[in-house]
Amino acid sequence: METVFPSHEQAVVPVVGTTAVFPVHRIYCVGQNYSAHVREMGGDPTKTQPVFFSKPSDAIVINDSPISYPMSTANLHFEAELVVALKHGGVRLNAEQAQACVFGYGVGVDFTRRDLQANCKAKGQPWDIAKGFDQSAPISAIKPLVDCNNIDSARIWLSVDDVLKQDANTDDMIWDVPSIIAELSSYFELKAGDLIFTGTPSGVDAVSAGNCVRAGIDGVGELTVNILKGE
Ligand code: MN
Repeated sequence: METVFPSHEQAVVPVVGTTAVFPVHRIYCVGQNYSAHVREMGGDPTKTQPVFFSKPSDAIVINDSPISYPMSTANLHFEAELVVALKHGGVRLNAEQAQACVFGYGVGVDFTRRDLQANCKAKGQPWDIAKGFDQSAPISAIKPLVDCNNIDSARIWLSVDDVLKQDANTDDMIWDVPSIIAELSSYFELKAGDLIFTGTPSGVDAVSAGNCVRAGIDGVGELTVNILKGE
């Protein structure tokens, strides 16, 4: 097909154990999926439900690639998250069908311009500028499901310059992985290549240019992101 300008590159993520890569379709995210994080953000987990938002597929940054400190923020926060990678999709999936869509898992960081998010929340505005910016979705290589053990109860952690900031367990998620996929499929037709960031535990905080962010999930992998001075 002739295009009027060169097509943009397909965003891809390496897969553990193969040279074949995972082509990214969409990036969905879950917010407010760990009670302790809801509380640290000033919410009441007994009165709220997890929420969905999204990031553009080209916000992906692969492991060991640096990011530039983003524009228009003075409060860039990290959020370590389990990322689900789908090999099938569908609509109105039940939990069993949802589980069958999982290709594998990765470790992601949902970078957030917290000052812009607070402003959006206060004004009842969408979160796009706070969440869906360039380089906002670093992710480790994806580990195929067959090689991941006990993802329902795995340690998830994040450090900044080797100081531990987040240290929790995926069994604290309010919506587990099949519930997230099933719920999301009632709003969107899910497809192979979709990634879902499943929410962050407590301990979120600001980072600066020069910091090295490392995140990991037992049985899945690790992710390193160096933050460079922005433009
Ligand atoms: Mn998040």
